Amino acid sequence: MTDETYLRKTFDLAFQAFESGSRPFAALIVFDGQIICETLDERKWKMDPTAHPEVEAIRTFYKRFDLDQINRAALYTNVEPCPMCAGAIFYSGIGRLVYSVSRKSFDSWVAQCRMRPRQRCVGAREIIRPNGLTRVRGPLLEKEGLALIKHHFFPLRFEQEKTGTEN
Ligand SMILES: [Zn+2]
Repeated sequence: MTDETYLRKTFDLAFQAFESGSRPFAALIVFDGQIICETLDERKWKMDPTAHPEVEAIRTFYKRFDLDQINRAALYTNVEPCPMCAGAIFYSGIGRLVYSVSRKSFDSWVAQCRMRPRQRCVGAREIIRPNGLTRVRGPLLEKEGLALIKHHFFPLRFEQEKTGTEN
């Protein structure tokens, strides 16, 4: 399986998250050639603002494997991790991070939709790179990853939020 294959799997998971009423973010971890966990954005269900898929994936990994094995694992996510998740990735020492849509592209598009004011774009690369333990690859399949969010996810949610139909 290639990085692209795993990223497309995160797109499917992100869609699943959205269909379940959450935000369209997802992650998975590959270890020894196997997907060992798939996580969705769980903020809404857990009532926990830190329950991002990347953090949930790292927590899941540590429940099942030894601490020193994470350098052989790779984390895939459909959007470049936020600063909080990048910090968790930094401290976990996971071997690789592969993401699709860059934070810069994502934030620019969100700002365009006037969903929230433009925020300073701190990409995961800026936080993780000084460590040297985690190799970072991305953006990858960015056009596909962003199109998925643009055309299937946020427009609907944006309308729901505007009209107050979301429960
Ligand atoms: Zn995050």
